[in-house]
Amino acid sequence: MSSQRNAPPAAAGPGRGPELRADCASCFGLCCVALPFTASADFAADKRAGEPCGNLGEDFGCGIHGELREKGYPGCTVFDCFGAGQRVSRETFGGRDWRGSPGEARRMYAAFPVMRQLHELLWYLTEALGRPEARRLRRELRAALNGIERLAGGDADALAGLDVAPHRQEAGVLLGRVSELVRGGVPGRGRDHRGADLAGARLGGARLRGATLRGALLIGADLSGADLRTADLLGADLRGADLGGADLTGALFLTQPQVTAARGTSATRLPASLTRPPHW
Ligand code: SF4
Repeated sequence: MSSQRNAPPAAAGPGRGPELRADCASCFGLCCVALPFTASADFAADKRAGEPCGNLGEDFGCGIHGELREKGYPGCTVFDCFGAGQRVSRETFGGRDWRGSPGEARRMYAAFPVMRQLHELLWYLTEALGRPEARRLRRELRAALNGIERLAGGDADALAGLDVAPHRQEAGVLLGRVSELVRGGVPGRGRDHRGADLAGARLGGARLRGATLRGALLIGADLSGADLRTADLLGADLRGADLGGADLTGALFLTQPQVTAARGTSATRLPASLTRPPHW
């Protein structure tokens, strides 16, 4: 969430512009208002959708930035809007904020989660476009990316009324074809663990290079020292998974929230587009 308000946006990786990375300084704390959360291991208190978090300051910054984990809000360190917050704040609503324009607040809260889904798709499609192995799909990828970009450029009402599911489905098929092309070139290509329940599995040192773990449940799994190079991790649930010393170089469709939700060490190797979480 806007935990990074006082920090500069993370450096853009290859092919990913700053527009797909959260820039909390250019947002009006939308994630800290629009989204609900429940008191749990991730959040120290309950909060309803549309209710500003009690830690949100008048300047839209987080009052406990830098000590979120210690104060019981690790969920805020994991959340990433993929740049949706600043786009809704600056583009969709032209710099108007929910405090100064309370009559528009509900529309802002409705547009934000839709924009986040669209920006997540843009993240995946941008990555796919940068994969040389998928060059034969570039025209289709470019068309898909432009289509999502047009939707993201819609006005607030169009965004709020948009059903992203069919667009996600369509993009998912295309990303699957990209994955096949990329992993097809991996010697001894890994196994198919799509959607597998591997929660708590002992996979330390496993050879998963080129495997597909798309949508796999890997909560608390031991992946320490695993070879996950060029593995497809789209939508894999890595919460609490041990990635200590694992090699994720070139992993497909891995996102910062997945990485931040996992555990790792200085020996963990990440794709160049992602940053090492400060708590590792
Ligand atoms: S604790 Fe509240 S203000 Fe801080 S990042 Fe989380 S939701 Fe935002």
